Amino acid sequence: MANLLVIAEHDLGHLKQATLAAVACAHKLVAEAGGSFDILVIGQNVGGIAEVLRPYGAATVMVADDAQLQHPVGDKYAQVIADVARQRETTMVIGAASTFSKDILPRAAALLDAGMLSDVIDVHMAGDDFIFKRIMFAGNVIATVKLDGAVKFLTVRAAAFAQPQKVADCSPVLVIPIDAGRLPAFIEYGGREAKVTGRPDPTEARVVVSGGRAIRNADDFERLVGGLADALGGAVGSSRALVDAGITPNSLQVGQTGKIVAPDLYVAVGISGAIQHLAGMKDTKVIVAINKDPEAPIFEVADFGLVGDVYQIVPELVAALKK
Ligand SMILES: Cc1cc2nc3c(=O)[nH]c(=O)nc-3n(C[C@H](O)[C@H](O)[C@H](O)COP(=O)(O)OP(=O)(O)OC[C@H]3O[C@@H](n4cnc5c(N)ncnc54)[C@H](O)[C@@H]3O)c2cc1C
Repeated sequence: MANLLVIAEHDLGHLKQATLAAVACAHKLVAEAGGSFDILVIGQNVGGIAEVLRPYGAATVMVADDAQLQHPVGDKYAQVIADVARQRETTMVIGAASTFSKDILPRAAALLDAGMLSDVIDVHMAGDDFIFKRIMFAGNVIATVKLDGAVKFLTVRAAAFAQPQKVADCSPVLVIPIDAGRLPAFIEYGGREAKVTGRPDPTEARVVVSGGRAIRNADDFERLVGGLADALGGAVGSSRALVDAGITPNSLQVGQTGKIVAPDLYVAVGISGAIQHLAGMKDTKVIVAINKDPEAPIFEVADFGLVGDVYQIVPELVAALKK
């Protein structure tokens, strides 16, 4: 019987939608193995996040709420997760495949001497074992693996698990007492720098417009990529070429070493389609590529392609959309 723990991810008072993919994965595991799953929300004043998660079929929605947990600092969050998993004899801890999980879950797994799999896209049972499929090598390989050990940790790709249905009976909320003096203090929160753009987060948005090396400077990026994103009500993203050139911030990078996005529509503006970039966006439903080179590899994955100069095509597109 599975005894699962889903880690909720949230930012600025909003639940990250990718959490629901982890919940969907938990439902699938429980359907196959029996048992139940809990959801753990960590932070300060996170009652509202717990409330949002109550209709998703968890045995309980647990809340670890303390001023010391206001920011997602790795050592503290990992300790809370490990403590809860130990107390509840959790067999598997599940999070979304995200930057948050990359920082926190391996630390918690280490505290429990547990194995961990990242980027899981499917799971089924064979005998008494769970068999996982996970993405490797920038999406070029799908590995089928088994994980040993009494406790397992995994992160799941959001696009691989459909949003779970809400159920009529809401889960009870259970407040977890926090002994703040016992939390580790190896890491000190220094502050947060985030440009307020008014645009959605690329990992949450239904439309993402990303710019590549074709864009010559930050003003052009804002005018062309930002302009098209705004016309479509979407988020902006970037290839690593623009990040390396200092034109876009690292937080916008999509790809193997950047963010993983799976929107309904992805528009690649002057991006060649290197495998490391594709690794971050190829789960998109509809891909549109604009590139002056008809042989650019991005056209191999694009559903719609426009061959031409982005400096000419994008303003025309924005003008047409505004009409
Ligand atoms: C370990 C590793 C990890 C990496 N991780 C990432 C990652 O996470 N994300 C990522 O993006 N990359 C990553 N990269 C880099 C990746 O290999 C590519 O170098 C990068 O994606 C290229 O970015 P680009 O497509 O913008 O640039 P280019 O490959 O230079 O392509 C630019 C494209 O723009 C077109 N173009 C130029 N001018 C115009 C114009 N005026 N109008 C229309 N089209 C035009 C060109 O035809 C070309 O196809 C990684 C590389 C390594 C080795």
